[in-house]
Amino acid sequence: MKILHPASLTQAAEMMAEGAVPVAGGTALQLQWSQGRARPAVMAEVGSLLPRGIRGLTIGAATPLEEIRRAGLPLLSEALRDVAAPGIRRMGTLGGQIGFGAGCLMPALLVLGAQLETTEGPRALAEYLAEPRGLILSVAIRPADRHGWRKTGLRAAFSPAILTSAFALKMKGSRISMAHLAVGGGPVPPRRLAGTEAWLAGQDPATLDPDALRARIEAEVQAPDCAFRSARYRRRIAANALAFGITGQLPAQPGRRTPIPARALPPQQTVLGRASGGERWQTRPDMPAKVRGQMPYLTDHRAPDMLVGRILRAAHPHAEILSIDTTEAEALAGVEAVVTHRDIPGLNAFGIVFQDQPALCADKVRHIGDMVAAVAARDAATAEAALALIRVAYRPLPLVTDMAAALAPGAAKVHAGGNLVSEVVLERGDAEAAFATAAHVVEATYTTPRQMHGFMETEGGWIAPEGDGLLVCVGGQHGARDRLQLSRILALPEAKIRVITSPIGGGFGGKDELTVQPALALLALKTGRPVRLQLSRAESTRAGIKRNPMTIRMRTACDGEGLLLAQEVALLADSGAYASLSPGVMETAMEHCAGPYVIPNIRTRGRLAYTNNGIGGAFRGFGCNQMTYAVECQIDRLAAKAGLDPAAMRRRNLRVPGSPGYLGQAVGPSERLHEMLDAAQASAIWAPFEVAPEEIPGTGMALTYQGTGLGTIPEDEARFALRLKDGKVQALCGLDEMGQGLVASLHAAVAERLGCARSDVEVIFGDTGAAPDSGSTTAARGGYVVWKGVSETAPGLSARLLGQAAQRLGHAVESLCIVPGGIGARGANAPAPLLRFADLGDVTAEEAHYAFPKSDYFKGNARFLFTYGATLARVAVNRITGAVRLVRLEFHSAAGPVIDMASYLGQMEGALIQGAGFTLSEDILMRDGQMVTKNFDTYAMPGVRDVPGEMHVTAHETLDPGDPFGPRGAGEIGFSSITPAIANAVADATGRWPATAPFPPEEILAMSEAESAA
Ligand SMILES: Cc1cc2nc3c(=O)[nH]c(=O)nc-3n(C[C@H](O)[C@H](O)[C@H](O)COP(=O)(O)OP(=O)(O)OC[C@H]3O[C@@H](n4cnc5c(N)ncnc54)[C@H](O)[C@@H]3O)c2cc1C
Repeated sequence: MKILHPASLTQAAEMMAEGAVPVAGGTALQLQWSQGRARPAVMAEVGSLLPRGIRGLTIGAATPLEEIRRAGLPLLSEALRDVAAPGIRRMGTLGGQIGFGAGCLMPALLVLGAQLETTEGPRALAEYLAEPRGLILSVAIRPADRHGWRKTGLRAAFSPAILTSAFALKMKGSRISMAHLAVGGGPVPPRRLAGTEAWLAGQDPATLDPDALRARIEAEVQAPDCAFRSARYRRRIAANALAFGITGQLPAQPGRRTPIPARALPPQQTVLGRASGGERWQTRPDMPAKVRGQMPYLTDHRAPDMLVGRILRAAHPHAEILSIDTTEAEALAGVEAVVTHRDIPGLNAFGIVFQDQPALCADKVRHIGDMVAAVAARDAATAEAALALIRVAYRPLPLVTDMAAALAPGAAKVHAGGNLVSEVVLERGDAEAAFATAAHVVEATYTTPRQMHGFMETEGGWIAPEGDGLLVCVGGQHGARDRLQLSRILALPEAKIRVITSPIGGGFGGKDELTVQPALALLALKTGRPVRLQLSRAESTRAGIKRNPMTIRMRTACDGEGLLLAQEVALLADSGAYASLSPGVMETAMEHCAGPYVIPNIRTRGRLAYTNNGIGGAFRGFGCNQMTYAVECQIDRLAAKAGLDPAAMRRRNLRVPGSPGYLGQAVGPSERLHEMLDAAQASAIWAPFEVAPEEIPGTGMALTYQGTGLGTIPEDEARFALRLKDGKVQALCGLDEMGQGLVASLHAAVAERLGCARSDVEVIFGDTGAAPDSGSTTAARGGYVVWKGVSETAPGLSARLLGQAAQRLGHAVESLCIVPGGIGARGANAPAPLLRFADLGDVTAEEAHYAFPKSDYFKGNARFLFTYGATLARVAVNRITGAVRLVRLEFHSAAGPVIDMASYLGQMEGALIQGAGFTLSEDILMRDGQMVTKNFDTYAMPGVRDVPGEMHVTAHETLDPGDPFGPRGAGEIGFSSITPAIANAVADATGRWPATAPFPPEEILAMSEAESAA
């Protein structure tokens, strides 16, 4: 790509005549490249030649959008708030916005009658858009008496436009003398609505019929369907927005629908936050480096002889591989190695549950992210060029993309053994008889999305030969298991592989399975040099593990008083091409299918299907959150039928502490469901609240009941050690720091238990060569592993420290204690130590090996320790767009004592926001085995404008007397019940429950319209 710098507009015109593409801010061009548009060979930089600045209502074409936003221009400045993000607006220009063609601002410029000055003479904007010629020099707009604008995107924060609309009116008295209406944005061609404009002329906005106006606009708007929203929806929101803007009228709405729970006394609660935390609030030790961007991650590492790796992925979602020819790629200068399945010395298969995934595909590809070959080269460009030279011949096979069809007789097989990965069936009592006698029955099918983890650091790292083994430095969630899996693939003893997995820029389950390690390891072994590799965001989107999409059909019955009688559940989950941890996800969903309620008669069946839709697997919530969505909506639906408020319905059916779990297993002590219900009932969230005139308020709740740990069937053990070395109390723990606060929690737990300062503690973690195997950093098991490890080792280390100090100081052991910085005199007022840790010398490690607490049930995978919570949501449902705005979220949690307040709160707030994304906007759309959502630009994770204005988190920290199990894990509970809380709030607002997540705005709009029509 060549960039020319013309000295004048004449020279620029000559360059353009020869094919150079003009570039001003370059932001729209970059957006197009990220979406796959080819980069022009030659560009001419014109931004510096074009007029910049604002004079009256005339704007220079090179004026940055942000400057226009701040200028207070009619309509434009208001509209620009919704165009791109501030950083883009500071670079992007008005000329580029028009040249882009799909700019959001077009309707606003059209209704303001924009006239352009161009190098080809003056032209009206509409004319220029129809036939763009020459360079835009300036844009003049005409003000109106009244105007309005609305952008509807994939989320509230900046995102591609679904549709933008604008109007400008000139008034004569109370009547419209001239109306300009326009739509555009994204795939909608920018256009004025001439028919409706003519109809409006002479009318009084206060008396005209808004329904007639809506109908006219809807008929006139031309908008396409796309994978994200339908044409009908686009026409509808254009009509709603313009009609509401012009008339200020919307149909009347009925009041709230859900009975308000009776007030209760709040349980004992710790309010979590910097202000309320007092001395318990400590800034996390990893935070300053992280917020400054100074934390060195494994993907940041560079060394002089390091090669760059790249992976060749499948060209088809399902195909037989006929041949792989790497000759040309190997011959390319700068290429050091190409590896294929032929280079695998051991087992060409991996997978945490079943080893069904090839490290490099040999005979078949099963999804679009499958790895076929990998290249190590001197630089990224050479490695990418080499990928293009690898010739793979395929024979496409029939696609399996629908999970129900995948399990139908005669379906094409993704794996030779068929498409049923696993099945879980459980029946108890006589469900059919119970349904027959029930007073109320509700049935719905809930659908959940293929959510992407969206971690900031995509999959990657580096691997280098070390002696006669390998040093593997790739972000992961269980180094010892990664080592085991690699040892099988490489036929290399585990002892010869050292795996460093931390620090990680986010995991959420998506780095639990092997990612780039097999390809990188093969390249490092073949070249004998360190090789690095990090997936681009697009490659991570294509190849990375996602949350398993599910459909859950649930039928639930209660008697006339709201007592639950029976439930039938049919779950279907999409595993994608390989199993990974999906069987565990499905089992966990099934284990939670009655939630925290007692249901005597049940009939449940869960099935997991192989398809060609990417790969599913571990993701925070791990099946529990999907099932909780269904269960907690069913409870509200039945409450509505039985005439009960949501809390009363729940209390009537709640588990009794100590009673068996859903599978009949023993459940651990300290159940806090009643306290969580008390907290929900005591909340002020049920009070009426103000929303905008175009919104309907709603309030909802849901309970959380989630098992922690791996369950009864998988091995679930941990090792831990504590020692004094180099003047630091070192905690050796094999867990990983993914941003969840492991390091802070260890600092807090050790300091609290020993009596030293947090700053005396150093954590050695995430390294199989330096820390013991503490098991996986998953399943919310970390909190217990940390607490138990410290509890087991601290007394022993404390005794050794004091004994050694007593000898050195010549004091009696009983007269000493551990204080911040070292060993002090027991009972002394002076905080200064008599002997500093640094002067004490090293003290050998105290070690612990313990099992995560398990239940007594082995017919299926059952959890023993549970966590509890109540999520409450206030929402505002937009009657123009169907968008759901989160006004306030509350999460009341009970997971035992809080180890580190900032980490705990971070887990809860983070989970709530990630759960809000699952609920309202995040889904990787796939069609025919290909990703429709290819990158973050169309993957709508919540931005700052999507998070609620208020979030409030509490912790109920007590344990039952004699409870020996300490803090429970806090990583997942915040996620469990956010979706049903929001769904129940939407039902409060509209009278209907959304059963598809993310909630389609089109469906929510239809719900609110149906309600106002009723
Ligand atoms: C992350 C991101 C988010 C974005 N979000 C939005 C959004 O929400 N809404 C939106 O509308 N846009 C969005 N954009 C696109 C873009 O930023 C804006 O449209 C911006 O106004 C483009 O201005 P620019 O100067 O950077 O254009 P450039 O990229 O330089 O050029 C864009 C096109 O216009 C042509 N061009 C440039 N200047 C002129 C001129 N004076 N006369 C004629 N043709 C010209 C170029 O040849 C090119 O074809 C986004 C971009 C990014 C990267």
